[in-house]
Amino acid sequence: MLSYEEALDHLLSAAVPVEEIRLLPLAVAAGRILAEAQVSTVTVPPLDNSAMDGYAVRCADVPEAGVALPVVQRIPAGSVGHALAIGTAARIFTGAPIPAGADAVVMQEFCEHGPNDMVIVNRVPTPGMNIRRAGEDIAAGAEVLAAGTRLGPAEIGLAASIGIAQLPVRRHLRVALLSTGDELTEPGNPLPPGGIYNSNRHFLRAMFESLGCAVTDAGHVPDTLEATRAALREAAGAHDLIVTSGGVSVGEEDHVKPAVEAEGELSLWKIAIKPGKPLAFGKVGSRGTAFIGLPGNPVSCFVTFLLFLRPYVLKRMGVRTTLPLARQLVSASDWNKPEDRRSFLRARIAADGRVELYPNQSSGVLTSCAWADGLVDVPAHQPFKAGDPVRYLAFADLL
Ligand code: AMP
Ligand code: MG
Repeated sequence: MLSYEEALDHLLSAAVPVEEIRLLPLAVAAGRILAEAQVSTVTVPPLDNSAMDGYAVRCADVPEAGVALPVVQRIPAGSVGHALAIGTAARIFTGAPIPAGADAVVMQEFCEHGPNDMVIVNRVPTPGMNIRRAGEDIAAGAEVLAAGTRLGPAEIGLAASIGIAQLPVRRHLRVALLSTGDELTEPGNPLPPGGIYNSNRHFLRAMFESLGCAVTDAGHVPDTLEATRAALREAAGAHDLIVTSGGVSVGEEDHVKPAVEAEGELSLWKIAIKPGKPLAFGKVGSRGTAFIGLPGNPVSCFVTFLLFLRPYVLKRMGVRTTLPLARQLVSASDWNKPEDRRSFLRARIAADGRVELYPNQSSGVLTSCAWADGLVDVPAHQPFKAGDPVRYLAFADLL
């Protein structure tokens, strides 16, 4: 059996990012993965400017509170004043450039109007007060966005702030999903005797879409070798990755393994984790389309996706950091039946900040995944008690 890390290393070392890059306008770039680092050609802010509405002065002219200065210019944002003569003040507004010679801005709340266009400055300024310095945010030539960054609202705003209108992003990873199992019935239909509803197909689609993949639902394959082979051949054509759920155990109804072997190549990994022991990895078709077979049990399928598919898919999408942050939290539950494999228990953070376990950790109980908001990662053979520290992976960080 492979450890989690060994299996993940195998998977990640085979994950090559999609090559094609497209240039997208900012309006449609949110959620995409930046393909090339972005370097600023401008300085932000471009000039020293005022952080407040108030009066630009020379500190040397205001040695004490109550000094009156003539207001000889008015500088709103968007205009440029002229050099400040000694012994004068400039009315200035937030974002307006500081005139040459001025070394502080006094907030208008600390000033009052005097006679003859004078301002009375009631606060002694210190040099640099209320001045935002040129380049304080970004220096020209600085890298502002690294390749492999997912473009969220802040990144889109940052690109705009340096004048970039279009960003190079990687094309979507194209994923084909196949379900196997003659017992599966699609939701919306009555359940025949011996049937169960197909849940994996639907949550897998949602998970891939939440990572930002272009998903093709290639349907539900009958449990025969020929149908499975045909579905794999069909899916290999236009996709970067084919993912199946179910059919990778060793029963004679499990046709995914022989079908992949016949259409390409396959390794079946037994991984020392629970849930989710078997994971199939291979290639299909003449283009060598990657293939990953997930376990059929819904919880195994769900957890295996988070632990393996997610980092693999992110790497293929060109994302820079693919491993989730784990948090050290305190358990609210006892775990008395440690497994002989590293376990990923469905859990959630209670109101007091401690982590509670879902009472039924069986791999068929999908309710546990909906109830939970994360996984507790427990080493093999390791019981724990309420109050003990546990390693917690939040779904919010994973999806
Ligand atoms: P298998 O890996 O095909 O042997 O399936 C293991 C278990 O998971 C069986 O109980 C299947 O009925 C169930 N299962 C397989 N695929 C799905 C699916 N798409 N939705 C819900 N349950 C499934
Ligand atoms: Mg099956």
